Amino acid sequence: MGLSQPTGIGEDFGGIERFSHSIGIAVAASTPQLSGVAKRIERMQIVEMTEATRMSGGCACGRVRFEAAVKPDEAYLCHCRMCQRSTGSVSIAFINAMLDDVEWQGQPDWYDSSPIATRPFCANCGTSLGFLFKEDASKMDLTVAAFDDPTPFTPKHHFGAESMHRAWINTEGLPEYRTDEHQKLVEKWVAATGKVPD
Ligand SMILES: [Zn+2]
Ligand SMILES: [Zn+2]
Repeated sequence: MGLSQPTGIGEDFGGIERFSHSIGIAVAASTPQLSGVAKRIERMQIVEMTEATRMSGGCACGRVRFEAAVKPDEAYLCHCRMCQRSTGSVSIAFINAMLDDVEWQGQPDWYDSSPIATRPFCANCGTSLGFLFKEDASKMDLTVAAFDDPTPFTPKHHFGAESMHRAWINTEGLPEYRTDEHQKLVEKWVAATGKVPD
């Protein structure tokens, strides 16, 4: 399959996934046939200057933990249907990391989300933890919100734009309600744990 010349729905999707989740692979596979999208990604890759930072994260229940060297200002949103269906979200925030720089403490479970990709998750609590191509992968994605402190991460681009739900992209101006302003919810938390969650 040529990266820029999908011939069917399945291959089309595979091509999309191939571009979206491992920019390093797309760049390594640079050929004159690269699509405009891939060329833009390639340019972004070239101008990246930030240093990787070692950060920790894990699943909601704490069984799966990881440490990874990542560049927090190079996160992105993937809107591809595989990510939407795998996470139940309109999009998923990912950060790319070198496979060798991801250290698991408490092994994740894995499931194949397509013939070409597999995803780590926790079978105990269900947290979606990332994305990995089955073959030829030197990098993988980790879910931004699974990190202990997601606040340093900023998005650098969108991927899977063909299935982007645009109504959810620019939500600036919608009413904003805080959890601690929801009195009945606060009462449930205080009754259960003595405080509202951090
Ligand atoms: Zn868990
Ligand atoms: Zn995706």
